[in-house]
Amino acid sequence: MSDFVDLTLPEMIAALRRGEFSSRELALAYLDRIEQLNRHLHVFLTLTPELALRQAEEADRRLSAWRKDPGPLPPLLGVPVAIKDVLCVAGVQATAGSRILEGFAPPFNATAVERLLAAGVVVLGKTNTDEFAMGSSTENSAYGVTHNPWDLERVPGGSSGGSAAAVAARLAPLALGSDTGGSVRQPASFCGVTGIKPTYGRVSRYGLIAYGSSLDTVGVFGRSAADAALAFAQIAGYDPRDATTLNLPVPEVSLDGREGLRGLRVGVPEEYFIAGIQPEVEAAVRQAVEALESLGAEARPVSLPHTRYALPVYYLIAPAEASANLARYDGIRYGPRLAAETMWDVFRRTRGDEFGAEVKRRIMLGTYALSAGYYDAYYGQAQKVRTLIKRDFERAFESVDVIAAPVAPTTAFKIGGHGDDPLSMYLEDVFTLPANLAGVPGLAIPVGFDRDGLPVGMQLMGAHFREEILFRAAHAYQQVTNWHVMKPNLEGLL
Ligand code: GLN
Repeated sequence: MSDFVDLTLPEMIAALRRGEFSSRELALAYLDRIEQLNRHLHVFLTLTPELALRQAEEADRRLSAWRKDPGPLPPLLGVPVAIKDVLCVAGVQATAGSRILEGFAPPFNATAVERLLAAGVVVLGKTNTDEFAMGSSTENSAYGVTHNPWDLERVPGGSSGGSAAAVAARLAPLALGSDTGGSVRQPASFCGVTGIKPTYGRVSRYGLIAYGSSLDTVGVFGRSAADAALAFAQIAGYDPRDATTLNLPVPEVSLDGREGLRGLRVGVPEEYFIAGIQPEVEAAVRQAVEALESLGAEARPVSLPHTRYALPVYYLIAPAEASANLARYDGIRYGPRLAAETMWDVFRRTRGDEFGAEVKRRIMLGTYALSAGYYDAYYGQAQKVRTLIKRDFERAFESVDVIAAPVAPTTAFKIGGHGDDPLSMYLEDVFTLPANLAGVPGLAIPVGFDRDGLPVGMQLMGAHFREEILFRAAHAYQQVTNWHVMKPNLEGLL
């Protein structure tokens, strides 16, 4: 069984088509592994074995019909996936890691989910997340923390910690996540997997439980750039249900890997190598840049001078938008309702009891930043500085094709490591927030380990809608290195 779960996506798809094993057998192998490991890792909040087996059996019917009468097949037919619990899967509970949505089962699919289903996937279940995707460690989940498969005492990163840990622990070959300020890239980095945060507007947000609407993106985790690219190609593209998606063709991601990276200009931003960064993170990223150079790329310094404002700007804009988005959870329309004498008391009690501390902190910060008299000084000012951050990237991408930088200043920290200090937790996001503020794509890939055996990640950022360059560079790198093939040792738990 364990051989199944180590296959690359193209190998898995080819084996399914050849009939070496059925989609049902594959789904059962994953469900069995989840059964054994989920109690240690707490990756899945909801499992959907019945749905998975129904979808797998349908895939098997199509595959056997196809073997008799070949023709085009959905590209991911029979492949199991895990879905972050902020994305709607019709008929399946969607909690967003919050008590306030407990028991809520949306009647529709998110567009990203709908497109993966059309591509033939099998849904294993919904993965853990910080409450409403607010966090960098999955510790803010109302349902308990997920454990990092590389070291169970450490966080998997966040907020998509469940999806990243699922792929790292081989509980799913692919997973969907969301990235508002780093929530795909940072957990990918902490768990040693590959994760893409697409350009804002590339993937529909329809059916993604909203956090910061001008920053939210839907992304993918896979074990390699090639695997993630396959799923990205399925979910990307215009959606009439999300007016911020762009009607641009989704480029073919050509990954033959043999062409090398000759002529690729890689910018290394000095602002991302700051005091306080863990030395092993800096060393591994610099070494990865050298590996890109040995593949023919040219590395050169670039400057993104407004980087240091990204943190305060993000922590105004994201809470401001969150405070508006979360106003809908009133105890009337979704989830639990706590009884009270008046309507206002129903709102107050339900929101007071069912939202967690971090969510309340953000609602208060955001409401304050948007209040009359402060709006211009805070939200308005932050939007202006956001434009400067975006211009930094536009200027940089006039002279380079990709920007290479660390994903986070540290590797995975201990559960509870940031204690009750939200500001020290926010600092984990310094390197991921700028891409969201600018709307540019970012791809995180593993580039080494620290002395505790914890994965280090590098992110490649590109100009708007240039995801294919990121995939190409990462794929070439993964052809000559094997960090992405390393796996955490979980045998003792099986
Ligand atoms: N850690 C950041 C936050 O708490 C980013 C989270 C995310 O990308 N969803 O807002």
